[in-house]
Amino acid sequence: MTSKKSPPEIEFSEIREYHSSWSGLFFKVKKLLYSHRSPFQKIEVIENEYFGKVLLLDGLVQTTERDEFYYHEMLVHPALITHPSPQDILIIGGGDGGVLKEILLYPVERLWLVEIDSQVIEVSKNFFPWLSPALEDKRVELVIGDGGEFIRQTNRKFDVVLVDSSDPVGPSSRLHEEDFYRDLKKRLNPDGVVVTQLGSPFYHLEEIKEKSIFLAKIFKLTRLYTGPVPSYPGGIWCYAYLGGEINPSKLSREPPGGLKYFNKEIHRKAFSLPNLLKDKLG
Ligand code: SAM
Repeated sequence: MTSKKSPPEIEFSEIREYHSSWSGLFFKVKKLLYSHRSPFQKIEVIENEYFGKVLLLDGLVQTTERDEFYYHEMLVHPALITHPSPQDILIIGGGDGGVLKEILLYPVERLWLVEIDSQVIEVSKNFFPWLSPALEDKRVELVIGDGGEFIRQTNRKFDVVLVDSSDPVGPSSRLHEEDFYRDLKKRLNPDGVVVTQLGSPFYHLEEIKEKSIFLAKIFKLTRLYTGPVPSYPGGIWCYAYLGGEINPSKLSREPPGGLKYFNKEIHRKAFSLPNLLKDKLG
């Protein structure tokens, strides 16, 4: 006679990420794969049955195996299919390598990745299979350092800059400030484009408004766009496409094959903003 009782539910611990004091997201921790404090932040990697490996910095979700492409494709491809000749590319932050792997789908010439925390690189190499091969690509130069310092010290100029910073806390806070973007603009080639992430239109509407105001003072063209990211606060994310003359609705090339989310229709629709965002931007 088989037992009617179901096997005892294995109790897993949980990681809870609060998005407001009343709401958030939780991940059951099937296995804690890594947990150490670097000189900059607490770095954790957990195994979750549904999302796979999840990277957290100071307790905030950065990327998950299952849904990383929603964010990385939407941060990279709008700029790379519209810039007329994207050869010299800069990524600031992005130590998990998700943005790097997307850019390497294009015949870019040189690519700098400036990540402040070498431990994020080492941990991500271990747990996210896409990073090591990307870092071995001859076109990539990895710089361990502060993105703000790098921008001030380098005399290089770039065609496309992608700011893949973590949340505006800890080492990342300066990457969300006006001075950083003023310095960044001086490092752009003619036709240069900057794409940065602005946060959740659901939880961070005021911050998005404030950032858009100072970005519009710095860049001749400031266009917001949105896309879904299931594991980020509110499930929808806002990005800013910043530049001079290039109009993001004019494509210079086809997107690469094999993308899971991004395509030309998604590109066009992403720049159509919901009223709650449009009204805020005036
Ligand atoms: N996609 C994630 C998100 O939207 O939150 C961010 C991915 S990536 C893990 C963010 C990276 O930015 C981290 O590895 C962090 O160490 C790095 N970072 C934070 N502040 C930085 C700075 N000032 N200069 C360079 N890298 C920085």
